[in-house]
Amino acid sequence: MRFEVFKRDKFTCQYCGRMSPDVILEVDHITPVSKGGNNDMINLITSCRDCNRGKGKTRLSDDQEIKKQQAQLLDLADKKEQLQMMVDWKKELLNIRETQIDYIESLILQISGYQLNENGRQDIAKYLIKYPFELVCSAAEIAIVKYFNKNQSDYWTERSFADAIGKIGGICYNKTNKREGA
Ligand SMILES: [Zn+2]
Repeated sequence: MRFEVFKRDKFTCQYCGRMSPDVILEVDHITPVSKGGNNDMINLITSCRDCNRGKGKTRLSDDQEIKKQQAQLLDLADKKEQLQMMVDWKKELLNIRETQIDYIESLILQISGYQLNENGRQDIAKYLIKYPFELVCSAAEIAIVKYFNKNQSDYWTERSFADAIGKIGGICYNKTNKREGA
């Protein structure tokens, strides 16, 4: 923990700015333990021995300075937390994407009786990067209804299924451009 505090503060006394090895560094409690301060990183700060014992240029009793330091530490903790939140959010987005593909796959299966293969799923994933989910859903519906013909041999039915899936991107594109033109 001591080492973590020193590392975070770049081995620099946060009160006077002097660095190891010019000074002996200690870990100081911003809110003293006697006043309910704990050992969280947020409450710990790197101080040289002089500053920690009240002999430094900035006295530890200077409340304003201490509050400023603590605000900076809280900022740092916020930034780290926000970064973690962003990482989690991106992971969540990827999960949402999979769920959306699953949904469109089941929609297509419902209308056509045919299951998307891995290539089809990848196509849907590409459309979802470019177009909103609702648009891809309605385009998938239109493509199946309009272009999928199952009243023929297996070979041609499969061809027409693949063709219909291939039309989804174009339908999305046309709908988007119509909207922009309107
Ligand atoms: Zn110092």
